[in-house]
Amino acid sequence: MCNYDVIKDYVILNIDGWNISFSEPDECPMCKHVLKPEKLFHRIKKFEDKTKKDLEDEFNKKFDDLDNEIEPSFIISIVFFCNKCKNIFICKYFYNNFLNNEYEKIPIVETYPQYFIKKHFDKPIINISPMFVKIYNQALQAEYLKLNEICGIGYRKALEFLIKDYLIHLEPNHKTEIIKSSLSSCIKKIDDEDIRTFSEKSAWLGNDEAHYIRKHIEYDFKTLKRLIDALSLHIQKKLLLEEAKTIKKK
Ligand SMILES: [Zn+2]
Repeated sequence: MCNYDVIKDYVILNIDGWNISFSEPDECPMCKHVLKPEKLFHRIKKFEDKTKKDLEDEFNKKFDDLDNEIEPSFIISIVFFCNKCKNIFICKYFYNNFLNNEYEKIPIVETYPQYFIKKHFDKPIINISPMFVKIYNQALQAEYLKLNEICGIGYRKALEFLIKDYLIHLEPNHKTEIIKSSLSSCIKKIDDEDIRTFSEKSAWLGNDEAHYIRKHIEYDFKTLKRLIDALSLHIQKKLLLEEAKTIKKK
């Protein structure tokens, strides 16, 4: 028999006679609105396949006093309602009555559904390189799904489209040559120092995402993404400047 009550930002469930606190989500996974969601109901699944050895492996043999019996564990699913977007979502928790206690707040393990929101790019970028926008957002979605070993190569591909499409915009008569050129030789053709610097450094980090050996071990795809974001903003500024210069005084 399990009952739940709500105090502050956690839910209390009574499990096997113990009042256990479970963290509430701090934002809706669907609309990203920060809110206090409404609890609808919960389900508890008890399973008994964790042995003492499993526990020891998991927690560095901290629990030597446990006997070699199979110990019960629980998977708890709580269904919440978002008052902003009117959707429901589920938070999943793990609880083990030997490893956890009633004084700790059990963290959320997973939230369903995972709702991905694309990054918005302004029109000047979309106009010159729709493929950059498409590939960047696919990489972002891979990152969102925690596919950390492949999202970086996606950002590297997006980078190449952005740089080449920007060069093609500047030099449309050299389109065929630009398409066939290596990324590094394209970067050398960029006059603007800031854009060239962001492009060059992004390309270095991007190559690390594609190769067996990582040369810049102190950086990861998140730095690459930040550099690409800065690069796109600089290119956007240049494109807007071009447009501004065409405005005639009346
Ligand atoms: Zn919502």
